[in-house]
Amino acid sequence: MTTTNVTAVTPTVLPIKPQGQAGDSLVSATENVKPAPIAEIVVPQAASITVANAASQVNLSVLEEKSREFKTLIEEINYLGSLSSLANWDNDVFIPDKGTDYRGQQMSYLASKIHTIKTSDQMGELLKFLKEDSNFNRLGKEDKALVKKIFKIYEKAKKIPLSFVEEEAELTSKANSVWKAARKAKNFNDFAPTLEKIVAMKRKYADLIGYEGSPYNALLDHYEPGLTTDKVDRIFEGVKQKLIPFIRKINQVRKDVDYPFMHRTFDHKKQLDLSKDILELMGFDFTRGRIDEPTHPFCTTLGPDDVRLVTRIHDNDFYSGISSSMHEGGHGLYEQGMPPDLFNVNFEGASMGIHESQSRLYENFIGKGKSFWKYYFPKLQERFPEQLHDVTLDEFYKAINQIKSSMIRIESDEATYNLHIILRYEIERDLIEGRLEVKDIPQVWNKKMEEYLGITPKDDAEGALQDVHWAAGLFGYFPTYTIGNLYSAQIYNQAKKEIPDLESKIEAGNLKPLRKWLGEKVHSIAWTETPDEIIQRVTKEALNPDYFTKYIENKFSEIYPLA
Ligand code: ZN
Repeated sequence: MTTTNVTAVTPTVLPIKPQGQAGDSLVSATENVKPAPIAEIVVPQAASITVANAASQVNLSVLEEKSREFKTLIEEINYLGSLSSLANWDNDVFIPDKGTDYRGQQMSYLASKIHTIKTSDQMGELLKFLKEDSNFNRLGKEDKALVKKIFKIYEKAKKIPLSFVEEEAELTSKANSVWKAARKAKNFNDFAPTLEKIVAMKRKYADLIGYEGSPYNALLDHYEPGLTTDKVDRIFEGVKQKLIPFIRKINQVRKDVDYPFMHRTFDHKKQLDLSKDILELMGFDFTRGRIDEPTHPFCTTLGPDDVRLVTRIHDNDFYSGISSSMHEGGHGLYEQGMPPDLFNVNFEGASMGIHESQSRLYENFIGKGKSFWKYYFPKLQERFPEQLHDVTLDEFYKAINQIKSSMIRIESDEATYNLHIILRYEIERDLIEGRLEVKDIPQVWNKKMEEYLGITPKDDAEGALQDVHWAAGLFGYFPTYTIGNLYSAQIYNQAKKEIPDLESKIEAGNLKPLRKWLGEKVHSIAWTETPDEIIQRVTKEALNPDYFTKYIENKFSEIYPLA
């Protein structure tokens, strides 16, 4: 997913939606964080707020007028936000090297314009009016959600002085090159003084915004509204207790098997055509979107009928292209599934975790599942006979589903990936809570790697310096990757219950029922609800990590029979 762009980096200059992430699971560490594709835009429709019951004609018309004025402001933000996304997309996809400085100025201009509108007196007065009980109670459900959401954003933005926003933007912009140099030199100490400043800024941000319990909650809430350290601690502890011993057991029986066909040379253009074919099968509408593949994978929405996917293709690692295309395609389907009349209330989307659940569902439950490949593997062989004629479906399935502890998060498998995330979460939580000092990060990092994954980085480049997130100021972001994985398992489990013979349909190459079900349950409505409400409504229970851990245990016990 997700992608990071300039606006995404600074919580105070709120992207229209939580943006991309820095670091999709697939984003390479050397790249910019591109946050999840949370599309950041939203295009405004000429909206009129739905008013439930009119008490008096006079009041109603005032309410209508104020509502229209409010929506016009949001439209303005959405136009600017979508133009900023377009500038950012072009910055990643097509811009010539020397064009980036001016582009940075354009994006910074748009970000400050958006901030100014969000924190304007006009916005404040309209929100005050619409939040009054007598007015609020007469709004429709979606408009109520919109007013609540914007009020929260407004309140936060008002607490952050513009000087803080600028200072943070400058610090994280410089931090990126310091981090790159430190990573190249494999020396964490070169990055530590800068990271100390970023941690101090994040703590200050939490103080300015205000929080209950841990200051880290203020950062978490930015990406996953309602999530707290208490909840994450409890969920992640449960995941660790299941996954760590399971991975250890697998490591005891696992033999290093080489699958050389995975690294044969696959024609670049043919790989891109393959990705398009799979995306069409998934239901991605290319009349309302496109795919490119310049740098790191992400998805961004530039308008109601304009969803851009960016994938990553390597000539000697063909599965990586399939996987990143299906991941971004999952984000893209969510974006394309948003009904046009919801664009106006799409301010900020639901959460990074919910968005990520859709990409992970397609990337893992379909793209790493046996059912899909029973159908698609023969087609893959037809496309690449030279490279795959001597490979069986079973070999291919095992090759794409190896469990192997890796130093590098973005290269890790479905099971170990989450331990990478938990490690990062624990470190950043402790930094923000003041229980860990920056200088001690490498030591703690290496100790946890040994404890969770049984391996120790040989240097800081493959240890604490591998991700760009901290340099980009994205504290609070990492946990949403694992939360997204947990959501995806729970949602997919529900899909199997509600769609008769889902796996058989996938085996027959029919992905439409899944798309339809997700469209009805998630894509069309999961924009104005909170993540907790979405999970509860779709799966009829609160977030339950057992669906994910059971899925991992069942799937990989079959691949690696345990004695
Ligand atoms: Zn993603």
